[in-house]
Amino acid sequence: MPGKVKELEADVVVAGSGPGGATVARELSKGGKKVIVCEAGKYFTSLGKFYSAGLMMKKGGLTFSKEGLMLNIGNTVGGQSMVFAASAFQPPSWLKDRYGVDLQQEIDELYKEIPIRPLSDPLLGPGVRLLMETAQTLGMDWKPADKFIRSEKCVPNCGKCSLGCTTGAKWTAREFIDEATQNGADLLPQTKVEKVVTKSGKAAGVEAEGAGGKIVIKADIVILSAGGQGSPIILQQSGLPEAGDGFFVDPVLMVWGIAPKGGNMHDIPLSAGIHLMEDGILLMDVSFPLLLALGLVAYTGTGGLAYLRKAIHHNKLLAVMVKVRDQLYGQVHVDGSISKPIDDAAKQKLNKGVGIAKEILRKIGVKENDIFVNKPLGGHPGGSVRLGDHLDTNCQTKITNCYCVDNSIIPEPWGQPPVVTIAAMAKRLAKHLMADKKPNNR
Ligand SMILES: Cc1cc2nc3c(=O)[nH]c(=O)nc-3n(C[C@H](O)[C@H](O)[C@H](O)COP(=O)(O)OP(=O)(O)OC[C@H]3O[C@@H](n4cnc5c(N)ncnc54)[C@H](O)[C@@H]3O)c2cc1C
Repeated sequence: MPGKVKELEADVVVAGSGPGGATVARELSKGGKKVIVCEAGKYFTSLGKFYSAGLMMKKGGLTFSKEGLMLNIGNTVGGQSMVFAASAFQPPSWLKDRYGVDLQQEIDELYKEIPIRPLSDPLLGPGVRLLMETAQTLGMDWKPADKFIRSEKCVPNCGKCSLGCTTGAKWTAREFIDEATQNGADLLPQTKVEKVVTKSGKAAGVEAEGAGGKIVIKADIVILSAGGQGSPIILQQSGLPEAGDGFFVDPVLMVWGIAPKGGNMHDIPLSAGIHLMEDGILLMDVSFPLLLALGLVAYTGTGGLAYLRKAIHHNKLLAVMVKVRDQLYGQVHVDGSISKPIDDAAKQKLNKGVGIAKEILRKIGVKENDIFVNKPLGGHPGGSVRLGDHLDTNCQTKITNCYCVDNSIIPEPWGQPPVVTIAAMAKRLAKHLMADKKPNNR
C-alpha cells in the first residue's frame, strides 16, 4: 500500500545545495522568504578521511559517460564544493558582451563576504613555488590564483582540501546552507526532487522522494540547482524534453613527474598557474592526498613494476593540471546517463597543454621516462540548461516561475573553474526575485 504523502509549503523551494542552490537559498532567506532546500545527498560530516571524497560524490566518484569519460557529480549537502580545490576565477568578458549578464557587483560582494584572495606567502608550498618559478623563467605569466581559502585558518601540508576541509579554512557552499537555515530556511537532506508541479502553466511546487517517502512541496517559486546532470533531468521529467540537449565538461588531465628534488603532493592544490584564454587552456599545479594520487597514477594506464615505481616515489610526485575548453557535444538523458565524446579540437588543446607542462617538468630536471600523463577526466559538467537557449536572462525556464541556477546554465563551453560565476549568478537571481513585486499567485 503506498505510504502517506507528506505536504509542505514555502515561498521558494530549491532543488540542490551546491554553490548555486546554497547561495540563492542564503540570499532569499536573508530577505525574509520562507525557503525549503531539498538535497538528494546526506549531510555528510566525516570530513578529511581517506574515504570522504568518494562518499560525497555520486557512485563513489565513479560516474562515467557512455564513452567512458570519468565525470565529477556531487552528492552531499554543499555539492561538489565539499571536495573542490577552491580556486576562484572570474567569468570571461563574453558573458556580459554576448548575454548581457554583468556580474561585477555580485562578484565584488562575494570577494568581500567569503573572502576570496590568493594564499598568503607561507602557504605557497615548495612544489608550487618550483613550478611557478620554473614556468616564469620560461617566460610564462604563471602566478598565484585567487582562492576560496582563509589563509589564517589554513594548515600548511594538510593536503585535505579534496577530502573536505576540517579547519574551516576552505569556503564551501555548506556555509551558505548553514546561514540559510539560521535565517529560517528548512534543509531536507536525502530528498530528491523528481519534477516541477505546475498549475495553469506556472510553477506551483515540486514532487520529491525523501527518506520517508513521497513529499509534495507547494511554492510559488521553484529554483533548480541540482547541477549539470541533475537539473536537466528534473526539467525533462517536468515536460521540457529539450533540457540536457547539449552538455560540456572541462576536459582535464594531469601531467606527472618524479621530481629529483621532491614533489607537490603536500601542497595546497591549484595555488598558481597560467590561463591561456585565447587557446582555451588552463595550467595549474595540482596535488592529491595519497590514495587519490595513487588512484590517479593508476589511471595513467601503467601497471606492474612501472606502477610500483611511481607509487614508491609518491613523495616526489610533481603534477601539473591541464584543463581545456570543450564543445557543446553531449547529452544528459532522463535516466541519468550521459553521452560526452571528447572531440579532436579538445584533444588538440589537451596535447598542447601537455607539451607546455612537460617543458616545465623537463626544465626542473625530471627525466623523460619519469613523466607520465593521465587519461582525461570530465570536470565541471554543465551547459545542459543554458542561458539564451533554455533560460531567459533572469534564469527563468520555459515554465513560468521555475528558475535554474547552477553549472548547467553556463551558455557556452567554459574551460575554467566556475564557482565564482555560479554563486554570482545565484545572487543576481535572488536580487531579481526579491525585487519582483508581483502578487502572490497561489
Ligand atoms: C575535485 C573537484 C575540484 C574542483 N575544483 C574547483 C575549483 O577549484 N574551483 C571551482 O570554481 N570549481 C571547482 N570544481 C567544480 C565545482 O565544485 C562545481 O562546478 C560546482 O560545485 C557546481 O555547482 P552547482 O551549483 O552546479 O552544484 P553541484 O556542486 O553540482 O551540486 C548539486 C547538488 O544537487 C544535488 N542534486 C542532484 N540532483 C538532485 C535532485 N533531483 N534533487 C535534489 N538535489 C539534487 C546533488 O546531490 C548535489 O549536491 C571542482 C570540482 C571537483 C569535483
